[in-house]
Amino acid sequence: MRRPGRKVKGGERPLPGWLTTGLTVGWVAALVWLERRQALRQRQVEPKLRRDIRNLAVGGLGAIALHLVERPIVAPLARLVWRRRWGLLQRMRLPLGAEVALAVVLMDYTLYHWHVLVHKVPWLWRFHLVHHADLDMDASTALRFHFAELTVPVPWRAAQVMVIGVSPLALSVWQTFLFWSILFHHSNVGLPIGLERRLSRWVVTPRLHGIHHSIVEEEANSNWSSGLTVWDWLHGTLRRNVPQPAITIGVPSYRNPAELTLSKVLAMPFGEERLEWDDPDGTRPVRSPSQLGAPRELQA
Ligand SMILES: [Zn+2]
Repeated sequence: MRRPGRKVKGGERPLPGWLTTGLTVGWVAALVWLERRQALRQRQVEPKLRRDIRNLAVGGLGAIALHLVERPIVAPLARLVWRRRWGLLQRMRLPLGAEVALAVVLMDYTLYHWHVLVHKVPWLWRFHLVHHADLDMDASTALRFHFAELTVPVPWRAAQVMVIGVSPLALSVWQTFLFWSILFHHSNVGLPIGLERRLSRWVVTPRLHGIHHSIVEEEANSNWSSGLTVWDWLHGTLRRNVPQPAITIGVPSYRNPAELTLSKVLAMPFGEERLEWDDPDGTRPVRSPSQLGAPRELQA
């Protein structure tokens, strides 16, 4: 029996797994093909296969952690939110499409703040460091999140779902959108600059996120959006003027590939603390203003 006021519209069920998996496999294949055809960053510090295997292993452990920790909490919570009409969006009588779209936008915005936190809060940064310490960046970097970095934000994720009022359908749409976006903006796909300039007004693109992975601290402390670019624009943290060839990817104190093996990467958050933005010789990488382009224009 339908409770008074209960919406007749859907939202109770997530997108079917076969659909999201199938589309994601297609998306990965397209990005890998484009990376080979038209690479954005030509020089590579580490052999690609070795990095791919390591990042896949880190990503595999992360996927297990998500499956064992996040999913059993967040998926039932979204069902409860839908049934009991908890949260902002469940209280508003919106058409299903608008509700899902708004949920995606609000999840994306709150994720922006989480990303700022993992850079600003020292113990959270220790986990996120594993992701940033990759010496090159491509679609495999999108999988390189320490399993602890994926389990620590489960209470944050639960709060997002409850406060925003995210239904199981909206949750699965956001998760799929986010994963696609993360794969895309970490990829080494060299889009034509005109196309990327237009695209980057809306969504985070490979060049924008390349600036976020720079070894220059001020550049890493910009471009925190994970889906829509508007959040960086609103908060004044959008940076477009660094040309890609001028960027070195990584974290200055972790530039030695011998320190970035799989076991060392997994142990990294629990090891010695370093002044991460200093080179091993104690100097801090800075950007010469002469390298920068026009402030408002995404540079090639
Ligand atoms: Zn980051």
